[in-house]
Amino acid sequence: MYSQSQSISGSLKTVVTHPAHPTINPESKHRFAAKVLALTGILQTTLETNELMALFAQELSHFIDFDGLSYHFEELSIAIDLGEQAAHSCHYQLIVSGEQLGELRLYRMHRFDESELEMVENLLAALLYPLRNTLLYHRAVQTSMLDPLTGVKNRSTLDSSLRREMELSRRQGTTLSVILIDIDHFKLVNDRCGHLYGDQALRAVAQCIEGTIRESDMLFRYGGEEFLILLSGTGTNGAGLLAERLRKRVAELTPHPEKKMHLTVSLGVTSLRPEESGEALFERVDGALYRAKQAGRNQVSLEP
Ligand code: GH3
Ligand code: MG
Ligand code: MG
Repeated sequence: MYSQSQSISGSLKTVVTHPAHPTINPESKHRFAAKVLALTGILQTTLETNELMALFAQELSHFIDFDGLSYHFEELSIAIDLGEQAAHSCHYQLIVSGEQLGELRLYRMHRFDESELEMVENLLAALLYPLRNTLLYHRAVQTSMLDPLTGVKNRSTLDSSLRREMELSRRQGTTLSVILIDIDHFKLVNDRCGHLYGDQALRAVAQCIEGTIRESDMLFRYGGEEFLILLSGTGTNGAGLLAERLRKRVAELTPHPEKKMHLTVSLGVTSLRPEESGEALFERVDGALYRAKQAGRNQVSLEP
């Protein structure tokens, strides 16, 4: 693959004042600048990065031929690939006022010539600020979905995730299991070691769970010292095995070795029944957790 690497940074002014190449753009510099401005207006109509890139690709195709466009921004785990990848590509690092906004590539079967690259650069100038806005929005949405103490998904996102997973499970005929985890005697942990240690312990438990589950499993902070995992495509037995592994791993944690305080968790496990509501599912898994507590804590209780 051939890559023509470019970097485009910052100010709209410096980029737009480049004269467009006469052979590819017979319009006046002035009229072209007006088009870039109009493009900015179009791109400002969305706050979704996916939609923005689709719009940009569509508008760009009125100016030059290309087979595919990809936009990647690792920091926010954004990867958008439109059209086809081809042998030749030109590649831009997008930067505004020193702020990295990701990488954009255009692909096609034959080389981009200088005048086309200049055209792309002029049009990219219209993308930068709308893109920065969509990324700010993306970051804000992501932050509002996470619990600030532990960094895992918060309870307010659970409803929509559960609804989606239940629908998927019913449509595809797959099992959906849930594990509810509650730290044992956590009030004592706070009382004996202090609230800050308690917070540290909560973070350690969240990290331990996150490091043990699969990427497709979803972890939420369900309440103060309670966590919930949604496992799609996993039955009660598989979820029970995972719960037992989690129980053992948490018991091995030492968030503050000098405190000599051992953490344990109790876990309830069950799977969605046909026609069951989300509320009924949660009631049953809560019942399973209650039985694990009653049976002496530091154990897993399965509700078939
Ligand atoms: P059990 O084994 O029955 O679950 O006993 P428990 O003490 O864990 O249960 P209880 O519900 O009585 O107490 C939960 C405690 O969790 C009380 C509360 O102060 C503590 N807690 C809740 N959220 C946080 C938090 O964000 N940080 C800290 N440090 N403690 C928290
Ligand atoms: Mg509790
Ligand atoms: Mg507890």
